[in-house]
Amino acid sequence: MLSAENRQIRLARRPVGEIGPEDWEHATVAAAAPGEGEFAGRTRFISLDPAMRGWLDDRRSYLPPVGLGEVMRAGSVVEVTESNHPGFRIGDLVVGTFGVQEHVVSDGKGTLKVDPSAAAPSTFLGALGMPGMTAYFGLLDVGALKEGETVVVSGAAGAVGTMAGQIAKAKGCRVVGIAGGAEKCALLTGELGFDAAIDYRTEDVRKALRTHAPDGVDVYFDNVGGEVLEAALANLAMHARVVICGAISQYNATEGVQGPANYLSLLVCRARMEGFVVFDYAPRFTEAAREIGGWIGSGRIKVLEHVVKGTVNDFPQTLRMLFRGENTGKLVLELV
Ligand code: NAP
Repeated sequence: MLSAENRQIRLARRPVGEIGPEDWEHATVAAAAPGEGEFAGRTRFISLDPAMRGWLDDRRSYLPPVGLGEVMRAGSVVEVTESNHPGFRIGDLVVGTFGVQEHVVSDGKGTLKVDPSAAAPSTFLGALGMPGMTAYFGLLDVGALKEGETVVVSGAAGAVGTMAGQIAKAKGCRVVGIAGGAEKCALLTGELGFDAAIDYRTEDVRKALRTHAPDGVDVYFDNVGGEVLEAALANLAMHARVVICGAISQYNATEGVQGPANYLSLLVCRARMEGFVVFDYAPRFTEAAREIGGWIGSGRIKVLEHVVKGTVNDFPQTLRMLFRGENTGKLVLELV
Protein backbone atom coordinates (compact mmCIF):
# COMPACT_ATOMS: atom_id res chain seq x y z
CA MET A 1 0.00 0.00 0.00
CA LEU A 2 1.23 3.46 -0.87
CA SER A 3 -0.91 5.06 1.78
CA ALA A 4 -2.72 3.83 4.85
CA GLU A 5 -5.56 6.26 4.18
CA ASN A 6 -8.32 5.95 1.65
CA ARG A 7 -10.31 9.11 0.87
CA GLN A 8 -13.79 8.41 -0.44
CA ILE A 9 -16.84 10.32 -1.64
CA ARG A 10 -20.08 8.94 -0.24
CA LEU A 11 -23.71 9.86 -0.81
CA ALA A 12 -24.86 11.90 2.20
CA ARG A 13 -28.41 12.67 1.06
CA ARG A 14 -30.54 12.41 -2.06
CA PRO A 15 -30.31 15.60 -4.15
CA VAL A 16 -33.39 17.51 -5.22
CA GLY A 17 -32.76 19.16 -8.58
CA GLU A 18 -29.12 20.05 -9.18
CA ILE A 19 -26.61 18.15 -7.03
CA GLY A 20 -25.11 20.35 -4.30
CA PRO A 21 -21.97 20.04 -2.17
CA GLU A 22 -24.06 19.11 0.88
CA ASP A 23 -25.29 15.96 -0.91
CA TRP A 24 -21.85 14.39 -0.46
CA GLU A 25 -19.80 13.19 2.49
CA HIS A 26 -16.00 13.32 2.28
CA ALA A 27 -14.84 10.30 4.27
CA THR A 28 -11.40 8.94 5.15
CA VAL A 29 -11.01 5.28 6.10
CA ALA A 30 -8.05 2.93 6.38
CA ALA A 31 -7.04 1.45 3.04
CA ALA A 32 -7.88 -2.28 3.04
CA ALA A 33 -5.34 -5.00 2.27
CA PRO A 34 -6.16 -7.59 -0.41
CA GLY A 35 -7.22 -11.05 0.74
CA GLU A 36 -6.51 -14.34 -1.03
CA GLY A 37 -7.52 -14.09 -4.71
CA GLU A 38 -7.72 -10.30 -4.57
CA PHE A 39 -5.63 -7.31 -5.63
CA ALA A 40 -5.35 -3.79 -4.28
CA GLY A 41 -5.14 -0.77 -6.54
CA ARG A 42 -4.64 2.97 -6.53
CA THR A 43 -7.20 4.96 -8.49
CA ARG A 44 -5.72 6.86 -11.44
CA PHE A 45 -8.78 8.06 -13.45
CA ILE A 46 -12.44 8.40 -12.48
CA SER A 47 -15.22 8.59 -15.06
CA LEU A 48 -17.89 11.30 -14.73
CA ASP A 49 -21.20 10.30 -16.29
CA PRO A 50 -24.63 11.96 -16.56
CA ALA A 51 -26.19 8.64 -15.50
CA MET A 52 -24.74 9.26 -12.04
CA ARG A 53 -27.54 11.77 -11.42
CA GLY A 54 -30.12 9.02 -11.90
CA TRP A 55 -28.27 6.63 -9.58
CA LEU A 56 -28.81 9.11 -6.72
CA ASP A 57 -32.62 8.96 -6.91
CA ASP A 58 -34.50 6.32 -4.99
CA ARG A 59 -36.51 5.00 -7.90
CA ARG A 60 -36.64 1.91 -10.07
CA SER A 61 -34.04 1.94 -12.83
CA TYR A 62 -31.65 -0.37 -14.68
CA LEU A 63 -29.34 -0.35 -11.62
CA PRO A 64 -30.27 -0.02 -7.94
CA PRO A 65 -29.79 3.48 -6.51
CA VAL A 66 -26.58 4.28 -4.61
CA GLY A 67 -27.46 3.85 -0.94
CA LEU A 68 -27.16 6.68 1.58
CA GLY A 69 -23.72 6.48 3.19
CA GLU A 70 -22.35 4.30 0.38
CA VAL A 71 -19.26 5.12 -1.68
CA MET A 72 -20.44 6.79 -4.90
CA ARG A 73 -20.59 4.34 -7.80
CA ALA A 74 -18.20 5.19 -10.65
CA GLY A 75 -16.16 3.56 -13.35
CA SER A 76 -12.43 4.07 -12.94
CA VAL A 77 -8.97 2.97 -13.97
CA VAL A 78 -6.82 1.71 -11.11
CA GLU A 79 -3.17 0.69 -10.99
CA VAL A 80 -2.47 -2.56 -9.16
CA THR A 81 -0.26 -1.92 -6.11
CA GLU A 82 -0.42 -5.34 -4.42
CA SER A 83 -1.76 -8.66 -5.67
CA ASN A 84 -2.77 -12.05 -4.34
CA HIS A 85 -4.56 -12.77 -7.61
CA PRO A 86 -2.80 -14.84 -10.29
CA GLY A 87 -4.35 -12.76 -13.11
CA PHE A 88 -3.15 -9.35 -11.94
CA ARG A 89 0.39 -8.07 -11.43
CA ILE A 90 1.73 -4.97 -9.72
CA GLY A 91 1.62 -2.13 -12.26
CA ASP A 92 -1.31 -3.54 -14.27
CA LEU A 93 -3.98 -0.99 -15.14
CA VAL A 94 -7.52 -2.24 -14.64
CA VAL A 95 -10.94 -0.76 -15.55
CA GLY A 96 -13.90 -1.50 -13.32
CA THR A 97 -16.73 -0.05 -11.27
CA PHE A 98 -14.55 0.70 -8.26
CA GLY A 99 -16.30 3.84 -6.94
CA VAL A 100 -15.09 7.31 -6.05
CA GLN A 101 -12.19 6.47 -3.75
CA GLU A 102 -8.42 6.50 -3.78
CA HIS A 103 -7.77 2.84 -3.01
CA VAL A 104 -9.70 -0.26 -3.99
CA VAL A 105 -9.62 -3.98 -3.33
CA SER A 106 -11.07 -6.30 -5.94
CA ASP A 107 -11.38 -9.98 -6.81
CA GLY A 108 -11.13 -8.96 -10.47
CA LYS A 109 -14.70 -9.99 -11.38
CA GLY A 110 -16.33 -7.62 -13.88
CA THR A 111 -13.04 -5.84 -14.57
CA LEU A 112 -10.99 -5.47 -17.72
CA LYS A 113 -7.25 -5.10 -18.08
CA VAL A 114 -6.10 -2.01 -19.96
CA ASP A 115 -3.83 -2.62 -22.91
CA PRO A 116 -1.50 0.40 -22.65
CA SER A 117 -0.27 -0.16 -26.19
CA ALA A 118 -3.80 0.32 -27.58
CA ALA A 119 -4.60 3.77 -26.17
CA ALA A 120 -4.12 6.08 -23.19
CA PRO A 121 -5.62 4.57 -20.00
CA SER A 122 -8.34 7.27 -19.79
CA THR A 123 -9.59 6.26 -23.25
CA PHE A 124 -10.84 3.00 -21.71
CA LEU A 125 -13.38 5.16 -19.86
CA GLY A 126 -14.34 7.01 -23.05
CA ALA A 127 -13.98 6.08 -26.71
CA LEU A 128 -12.94 2.48 -25.92
CA GLY A 129 -15.15 2.29 -22.84
CA MET A 130 -18.80 2.68 -21.96
CA PRO A 131 -19.49 5.90 -23.94
CA GLY A 132 -17.88 4.48 -27.10
CA MET A 133 -19.90 1.27 -26.76
CA THR A 134 -23.05 3.34 -26.24
CA ALA A 135 -22.50 5.32 -29.43
CA TYR A 136 -21.65 2.20 -31.41
CA PHE A 137 -24.57 -0.03 -30.44
CA GLY A 138 -27.04 2.84 -30.15
CA LEU A 139 -26.40 3.86 -33.73
CA LEU A 140 -25.69 0.58 -35.46
CA ASP A 141 -28.03 -1.75 -33.59
CA VAL A 142 -30.89 0.37 -32.20
CA GLY A 143 -30.64 3.03 -34.93
CA ALA A 144 -30.06 0.41 -37.67
CA LEU A 145 -27.95 2.94 -39.50
CA LYS A 146 -27.54 2.63 -43.28
CA GLU A 147 -24.98 4.24 -45.55
CA GLY A 148 -26.14 7.49 -47.11
CA GLU A 149 -28.70 8.28 -44.40
CA THR A 150 -29.03 11.58 -42.56
CA VAL A 151 -28.13 11.26 -38.89
CA VAL A 152 -28.70 13.91 -36.23
CA VAL A 153 -26.92 13.67 -32.88
CA SER A 154 -27.69 15.87 -29.86
CA GLY A 155 -25.20 16.38 -27.05
CA ALA A 156 -22.89 16.11 -30.04
CA ALA A 157 -19.75 17.56 -28.44
CA GLY A 158 -19.88 15.19 -25.45
CA ALA A 159 -18.40 11.75 -24.79
CA VAL A 160 -21.13 9.73 -26.51
CA GLY A 161 -22.03 12.43 -29.06
CA THR A 162 -18.53 12.92 -30.49
CA MET A 163 -18.29 9.17 -30.98
CA ALA A 164 -21.80 8.74 -32.40
CA GLY A 165 -21.29 11.49 -34.98
CA GLN A 166 -17.89 10.21 -36.05
CA ILE A 167 -19.07 6.60 -36.26
CA ALA A 168 -21.97 7.73 -38.46
CA LYS A 169 -19.49 9.58 -40.70
CA ALA A 170 -17.27 6.47 -40.83
CA LYS A 171 -20.36 4.53 -41.99
CA GLY A 172 -20.94 6.96 -44.85
CA CYS A 173 -23.78 9.07 -43.46
CA ARG A 174 -24.53 12.77 -43.55
CA VAL A 175 -24.22 13.98 -39.96
CA VAL A 176 -25.68 17.00 -38.21
CA GLY A 177 -24.65 17.69 -34.62
CA ILE A 178 -26.55 19.73 -32.04
CA ALA A 179 -24.50 21.27 -29.22
CA GLY A 180 -24.31 24.29 -26.95
CA GLY A 181 -22.21 27.24 -28.12
CA ALA A 182 -20.36 28.41 -31.22
CA GLU A 183 -17.05 26.93 -30.09
CA LYS A 184 -18.44 23.40 -29.76
CA CYS A 185 -20.24 23.73 -33.10
CA ALA A 186 -17.03 24.87 -34.83
CA LEU A 187 -15.22 21.87 -33.37
CA LEU A 188 -17.87 19.50 -34.75
CA THR A 189 -17.73 20.77 -38.33
CA GLY A 190 -13.98 21.46 -38.21
CA GLU A 191 -11.94 18.90 -36.36
CA LEU A 192 -14.56 16.15 -36.24
CA GLY A 193 -15.84 16.40 -39.82
CA PHE A 194 -19.59 16.72 -39.13
CA ASP A 195 -21.49 18.09 -42.15
CA ALA A 196 -23.33 20.73 -40.11
CA ALA A 197 -23.82 21.83 -36.52
CA ILE A 198 -26.65 23.61 -34.74
CA ASP A 199 -26.17 25.69 -31.60
CA TYR A 200 -29.32 24.92 -29.60
CA ARG A 201 -28.66 27.84 -27.26
CA THR A 202 -28.94 30.51 -29.96
CA GLU A 203 -30.68 28.86 -32.94
CA ASP A 204 -34.23 27.69 -33.59
CA VAL A 205 -33.44 23.96 -33.79
CA ARG A 206 -36.64 23.04 -35.64
CA LYS A 207 -35.90 25.56 -38.39
CA ALA A 208 -32.20 24.75 -38.53
CA LEU A 209 -33.00 21.05 -38.98
CA ARG A 210 -35.24 21.90 -41.94
CA THR A 211 -32.22 23.64 -43.48
CA HIS A 212 -29.59 21.00 -42.71
CA ALA A 213 -31.77 17.92 -43.19
CA PRO A 214 -34.16 19.04 -45.97
CA ASP A 215 -35.24 15.46 -46.77
CA GLY A 216 -35.83 14.67 -43.09
CA VAL A 217 -33.87 12.90 -40.37
CA ASP A 218 -33.40 9.15 -40.83
CA VAL A 219 -31.75 8.50 -37.46
CA TYR A 220 -32.02 10.83 -34.49
CA PHE A 221 -29.59 9.88 -31.69
CA ASP A 222 -30.92 11.68 -28.63
CA ASN A 223 -28.74 12.47 -25.64
CA VAL A 224 -30.68 15.43 -24.30
CA GLY A 225 -34.50 15.04 -24.57
CA GLY A 226 -36.82 18.00 -23.94
CA GLU A 227 -37.30 20.64 -26.61
CA VAL A 228 -34.48 19.34 -28.81
CA LEU A 229 -36.21 15.95 -29.02
CA GLU A 230 -39.43 17.70 -30.06
CA ALA A 231 -37.56 19.61 -32.76
CA ALA A 232 -36.13 16.36 -34.14
CA LEU A 233 -39.53 14.63 -34.07
CA ALA A 234 -40.89 17.53 -36.13
CA ASN A 235 -38.32 16.77 -38.86
CA LEU A 236 -38.39 12.99 -39.29
CA ALA A 237 -38.04 11.20 -42.60
CA MET A 238 -40.32 8.26 -43.40
CA HIS A 239 -39.37 5.12 -41.40
CA ALA A 240 -37.01 7.12 -39.20
CA ARG A 241 -35.47 5.66 -36.04
CA VAL A 242 -35.30 7.76 -32.89
CA VAL A 243 -32.69 6.35 -30.51
CA ILE A 244 -33.32 7.29 -26.88
CA CYS A 245 -29.84 7.20 -25.42
CA GLY A 246 -30.39 9.79 -22.69
CA ALA A 247 -32.17 13.00 -21.73
CA ILE A 248 -29.70 15.10 -19.77
CA SER A 249 -31.90 18.23 -20.03
CA GLN A 250 -34.40 16.40 -17.80
CA TYR A 251 -32.16 14.75 -15.19
CA ASN A 252 -32.40 17.60 -12.67
CA ALA A 253 -36.12 18.18 -13.26
CA THR A 254 -38.10 18.53 -10.05
CA GLU A 255 -41.55 18.77 -11.62
CA GLY A 256 -41.62 15.74 -13.91
CA VAL A 257 -39.95 14.98 -17.19
CA GLN A 258 -41.01 17.01 -20.25
CA GLY A 259 -42.32 14.50 -22.78
CA PRO A 260 -42.57 15.12 -26.51
CA ALA A 261 -45.98 16.68 -27.23
CA ASN A 262 -45.59 15.83 -30.93
CA TYR A 263 -44.92 12.09 -30.59
CA LEU A 264 -47.62 11.40 -33.18
CA SER A 265 -45.07 12.32 -35.83
CA LEU A 266 -43.89 8.73 -35.23
CA LEU A 267 -47.25 7.57 -36.54
CA VAL A 268 -47.29 9.95 -39.50
CA CYS A 269 -43.73 8.96 -40.50
CA ARG A 270 -44.13 5.23 -39.69
CA ALA A 271 -41.14 5.81 -37.45
CA ARG A 272 -40.02 4.13 -34.24
CA MET A 273 -38.52 5.43 -31.03
CA GLU A 274 -36.53 3.00 -28.89
CA GLY A 275 -34.48 3.27 -25.74
CA PHE A 276 -31.55 1.06 -24.78
CA VAL A 277 -29.05 0.41 -21.98
CA VAL A 278 -25.49 -0.17 -23.12
CA PHE A 279 -24.80 -2.88 -20.52
CA ASP A 280 -27.14 -5.21 -22.43
CA TYR A 281 -24.49 -5.28 -25.17
CA ALA A 282 -21.67 -6.36 -22.83
CA PRO A 283 -21.17 -9.72 -24.61
CA ARG A 284 -20.40 -7.76 -27.81
CA PHE A 285 -18.09 -5.08 -26.36
CA THR A 286 -14.95 -6.75 -27.75
CA GLU A 287 -16.39 -6.64 -31.27
CA ALA A 288 -17.14 -2.90 -30.93
CA ALA A 289 -13.80 -2.10 -29.29
CA ARG A 290 -12.00 -3.80 -32.19
CA GLU A 291 -13.78 -1.70 -34.82
CA ILE A 292 -13.53 1.55 -32.83
CA GLY A 293 -9.86 0.83 -32.10
CA GLY A 294 -9.28 0.44 -35.84
CA TRP A 295 -10.91 3.79 -36.59
CA ILE A 296 -8.84 5.48 -33.88
CA GLY A 297 -5.65 3.83 -35.13
CA SER A 298 -6.27 4.96 -38.70
CA GLY A 299 -7.12 8.51 -37.60
CA ARG A 300 -10.70 8.15 -38.90
CA ILE A 301 -12.01 8.86 -35.41
CA LYS A 302 -10.57 11.47 -33.08
CA VAL A 303 -10.65 10.90 -29.35
CA LEU A 304 -11.78 13.93 -27.37
CA GLU A 305 -11.14 13.91 -23.63
CA HIS A 306 -11.60 16.60 -21.03
CA VAL A 307 -9.25 15.67 -18.20
CA VAL A 308 -9.52 17.53 -14.87
CA LYS A 309 -6.58 16.93 -12.54
CA GLY A 310 -7.27 16.81 -8.82
CA THR A 311 -8.19 14.57 -5.89
CA VAL A 312 -11.34 12.61 -5.07
CA ASN A 313 -12.51 15.72 -3.22
CA ASP A 314 -12.84 17.41 -6.63
CA PHE A 315 -15.40 14.81 -7.76
CA PRO A 316 -18.55 16.77 -6.74
CA GLN A 317 -17.76 19.97 -8.62
CA THR A 318 -16.33 18.06 -11.60
CA LEU A 319 -19.60 16.12 -11.91
CA ARG A 320 -21.55 19.40 -12.07
CA MET A 321 -19.60 20.38 -15.20
CA LEU A 322 -21.64 17.86 -17.23
CA PHE A 323 -24.90 19.60 -16.40
CA ARG A 324 -23.47 23.02 -17.25
CA GLY A 325 -22.00 22.05 -20.61
CA GLU A 326 -18.48 22.76 -19.33
CA ASN A 327 -16.94 19.63 -20.83
CA THR A 328 -15.97 18.89 -24.41
CA GLY A 329 -15.58 15.18 -25.06
CA LYS A 330 -15.25 12.60 -22.31
CA LEU A 331 -15.01 14.13 -18.83
CA VAL A 332 -12.48 12.36 -16.60
CA LEU A 333 -10.99 13.19 -13.20
CA GLU A 334 -7.31 12.27 -13.03
CA LEU A 335 -6.09 11.77 -9.48
CA VAL A 336 -2.75 13.49 -8.99
P1 NAP B 1 -21.53 14.39 -22.24
O1 NAP B 1 -22.35 14.58 -23.48
O2 NAP B 1 -20.06 14.26 -22.36
O3 NAP B 1 -21.80 15.58 -21.22
C1 NAP B 1 -23.03 16.10 -21.02
C2 NAP B 1 -23.35 17.24 -22.04
O4 NAP B 1 -24.76 17.41 -22.05
C3 NAP B 1 -22.79 18.59 -21.64
O5 NAP B 1 -21.48 18.79 -22.04
C4 NAP B 1 -23.77 19.54 -22.33
O6 NAP B 1 -23.29 19.88 -23.61
C5 NAP B 1 -25.05 18.71 -22.48
N1 NAP B 1 -26.12 19.28 -21.66
C6 NAP B 1 -26.11 19.51 -20.33
N2 NAP B 1 -27.27 20.04 -19.94
C7 NAP B 1 -28.04 20.16 -21.07
C8 NAP B 1 -29.35 20.65 -21.33
N3 NAP B 1 -30.11 21.14 -20.35
N4 NAP B 1 -29.81 20.61 -22.59
C9 NAP B 1 -29.04 20.12 -23.60
N5 NAP B 1 -27.79 19.63 -23.41
C10 NAP B 1 -27.30 19.66 -22.16
O7 NAP B 1 -22.12 13.14 -21.46
P2 NAP B 1 -22.10 11.64 -22.01
O8 NAP B 1 -21.43 10.79 -21.02
O9 NAP B 1 -21.64 11.61 -23.41
O10 NAP B 1 -23.66 11.25 -21.99
C11 NAP B 1 -24.51 11.75 -23.01
C12 NAP B 1 -25.89 11.14 -22.84
O11 NAP B 1 -25.82 9.74 -23.05
C13 NAP B 1 -26.50 11.35 -21.45
O12 NAP B 1 -27.88 11.61 -21.60
C14 NAP B 1 -26.30 10.00 -20.80
O13 NAP B 1 -27.21 9.75 -19.78
C15 NAP B 1 -26.48 9.08 -21.99
N6 NAP B 1 -25.90 7.74 -21.87
C16 NAP B 1 -26.73 6.68 -22.05
C17 NAP B 1 -26.25 5.39 -22.00
C18 NAP B 1 -27.19 4.26 -22.25
O14 NAP B 1 -26.82 3.11 -22.01
N7 NAP B 1 -28.40 4.52 -22.73
C19 NAP B 1 -24.89 5.17 -21.72
C20 NAP B 1 -24.05 6.29 -21.56
C21 NAP B 1 -24.57 7.57 -21.63
P3 NAP B 1 -23.74 21.25 -24.34
O15 NAP B 1 -22.68 22.25 -24.02
O16 NAP B 1 -23.79 20.85 -25.77
O17 NAP B 1 -25.05 21.65 -23.75
